[in-house]
Amino acid sequence: MWTFCVQMDTRLRPWLKFWMYPSVGLVERLRDGDSLVVAEGYIFEFERKGYLKAGSFVPEVVVEHPELVRAQHLEYVHAGSDVVLAFTYYAHREKLRLIGREDDIEAVNMKALKIAREVADETGTLMAGNICNTTVYMRDNPEAIQKARGMNKEQIEWAVKGGADFILGETYMEFGEAMLALECIKEYGNGLPAVITLSASMTDVLHDGVPIDEACRKLEDAGAAVVGLNCGRGPKTMLESLRLVKAACKGPIAALPVPYRTTPEQPTFFSLTVPYTDKKAFPLDLQSCQCSREEIYDFATECKNMGIQYVGLCCGNSSNLLRIFAEVYGKPAPALQYSPEMEKHYIFGDKKKFNSYFTVTRKAGLTGKQPS
Ligand SMILES: [Zn+2]
Repeated sequence: MWTFCVQMDTRLRPWLKFWMYPSVGLVERLRDGDSLVVAEGYIFEFERKGYLKAGSFVPEVVVEHPELVRAQHLEYVHAGSDVVLAFTYYAHREKLRLIGREDDIEAVNMKALKIAREVADETGTLMAGNICNTTVYMRDNPEAIQKARGMNKEQIEWAVKGGADFILGETYMEFGEAMLALECIKEYGNGLPAVITLSASMTDVLHDGVPIDEACRKLEDAGAAVVGLNCGRGPKTMLESLRLVKAACKGPIAALPVPYRTTPEQPTFFSLTVPYTDKKAFPLDLQSCQCSREEIYDFATECKNMGIQYVGLCCGNSSNLLRIFAEVYGKPAPALQYSPEMEKHYIFGDKKKFNSYFTVTRKAGLTGKQPS
């Protein structure tokens, strides 16, 4: 079965998924013990590709080059994503106003949802609407909170209209804003399940003083289908926080770090410095702090062992890293047929298969190590 899944024609995959999970949603699949691999990080990926600006980070590419957004969704599903996340992160009123495109807000949201719905239908995956930190919410400021509520409301209503299977609210650094997002999804989301993920910063206490484990438990008690952590932290500094969250909650937990080498001294990607310098890495030079594949593999394995059911990567995500989650979680991702086979490398591969001219002499020339 497994071999069949990996090698099968990708056109058959949706049918396999329908057979495995016939018309069941997020809540049912997680309740039945299934896990979901989820690709996030579209903003960073399209900045890397040259289709949106670092700084403002607004997903203009959705209307400028919708074909590329569709291709990105397909690529992530190929790599193992069980969810097509509509690219509406930062497609909220405040961000569009920032770049002078507030009038396009509904068009951007509906286009992103349409593309995501189509890809999800074609691939047998779930489609998620997406809201996030509003960049206007300020606690103890009723006017700001009201504005944030209105921004959530319109994006949630568009997600319902666009046929989302559930709604993700993400990257909240304050419990108050996360709870506001959940309340809005409950009020305007037409009964769709909510996934709420928090971004832990320098400590495990959110900026409004609520510990992350307590915050997750309260969100779960208030009706979130999945709670957990995304963005901000790298795998190394997210793991211990996840243990706290897991211990505090009863239901499914989400874990989607950024794939960067955060440390106890620099626990978030905002605090990382470029190696050998004191220059801030965020956001333009984060690639100098990229995790190795082995580090991602170790994180995915830890998550699986902890029973975390909703996993993936946020900013900095790439398909070759996401595929590792598919591998660890036993998902039938088509991209697994292209997993590394380094034994076939003519210099660094199997010594028995290639001439020592390459595997010994050339290798020594490339690595500076004497032939053994
Ligand atoms: Zn992120």
